[in-house]
Amino acid sequence: MKSPDVIIIGGGVVGASVGYYLAKEKRKVYILEKEYPTAGSTGKAIGGVRQQFSHNLTIRIMIESVKIFSQLSEELEMDIEWYPGGYLFLAHSEEMKNNYLKAIAIQKSFNLPVSFISPEECQKIVPSLNLENLLGGAFCPTDGHANPFKVTYGYLEGIKREKGKLFSYTEVVKIKKEGRDFSVWTEKGEKFSAPIVINCAGPWAGEVGKLVNLEIPIYPERHEGLVTEEAPSLFDPMIVDYRPDGCYFFQFHSTRHIIGCYTPIPPVLGPDNSSTFQFLTEMPRRMQRLIPKLGEIRILRQWAGSYEMTPDGNPIVSETEIEGFYVVAGMSGHGFMLAPGIGKLFAEMITKGKSSIPLDEFRLNRDFGKKEVMR
Ligand SMILES: Cc1cc2nc3c(=O)[nH]c(=O)nc-3n(C[C@H](O)[C@H](O)[C@H](O)COP(=O)(O)OP(=O)(O)OC[C@H]3O[C@@H](n4cnc5c(N)ncnc54)[C@H](O)[C@@H]3O)c2cc1C
Repeated sequence: MKSPDVIIIGGGVVGASVGYYLAKEKRKVYILEKEYPTAGSTGKAIGGVRQQFSHNLTIRIMIESVKIFSQLSEELEMDIEWYPGGYLFLAHSEEMKNNYLKAIAIQKSFNLPVSFISPEECQKIVPSLNLENLLGGAFCPTDGHANPFKVTYGYLEGIKREKGKLFSYTEVVKIKKEGRDFSVWTEKGEKFSAPIVINCAGPWAGEVGKLVNLEIPIYPERHEGLVTEEAPSLFDPMIVDYRPDGCYFFQFHSTRHIIGCYTPIPPVLGPDNSSTFQFLTEMPRRMQRLIPKLGEIRILRQWAGSYEMTPDGNPIVSETEIEGFYVVAGMSGHGFMLAPGIGKLFAEMITKGKSSIPLDEFRLNRDFGKKEVMR
């Protein structure tokens, strides 16, 4: 039988980050992953990282995450391709502009260098931007992007350096509390045992919850992405257009490919991750409307994956009614950017009894009625 201090179920970026910060505190960590690391949502993420939210706790965690991203290459001894190119949220209506102005007031109270800039200033940052109907944009120059594969594997290598282990192709199928410890069985019939089990199963966190009779309100929602061929250097920030037929995309600083997504309306619920012809034709139209020059650039690949949604669009980072069983999942489409901050803070919760930024608002038994407006 294999008996670490902590068993983490799920080897996506969240499980890897949680495991890394626990391993740094000398906890022996085993990660059990049903496929391979990044096989879930993490391998589908485009890599955007922003602090511009309207929810106080998310802003605080993201400020922490950005601090971590900016020195993570050095810490993990792996170039995670962090690039602070900023995020530019475009406003094409008074309503949108007012929403951004309200969010900016909150963000500024945390000293974020964010401001609402004129259409002409937007065009200085994105020279080929179409100004039609544009009222300006909310811009934060310290947001950016990084590589989700490298961050995840960097964290996993860090866990191994601290004597932790990753078990790929190891699906957890049964969990039982026996005395102080949990017994955890895999589909191969192997048994692991530990006093702490952390459910980091992303879109499958609800399924894993069922193994201990816990209801965890996390459900998959399909989101598609595409990447273009390498293009001339056109712009630095993530460009976000929140109109119902909007989209968001950025150009990789390192490779100059342009990568992006849109949020379908209505949402596409369920675990089906097939890519669609509709996205393949619609996404380029939306991108080209913002930057007409993109019409000259070819698409290289498209794919689909799951956002792991909670009813209020905020994560679940929580102990549960079963002592020793925790949930760190439901990042609601922001798990890549949240992972460093949440992993570090959650590890503080476990090893020090409380985190330097309290995470109570993300408890499992909260009122899920209030929604994040900058989803
Ligand atoms: C198209 C797209 C674009 C995105 N872009 C961004 C972005 O720009 N920025 C951002 O922050 N986020 C983005 N996201 C969201 C981001 O990908 C997720 O929030 C994040 O990857 C969640 O990480 P995770 O580790 O919680 O989940 P996952 O990466 O899904 O990891 C969970 C793991 O658990 C494993 N697992 C499940 N059940 C079991 C079991 N029973 N036993 C063992 N293992 C199990 C799965 O195989 C999986 O590997 C995007 C998502 C999509 C789909």
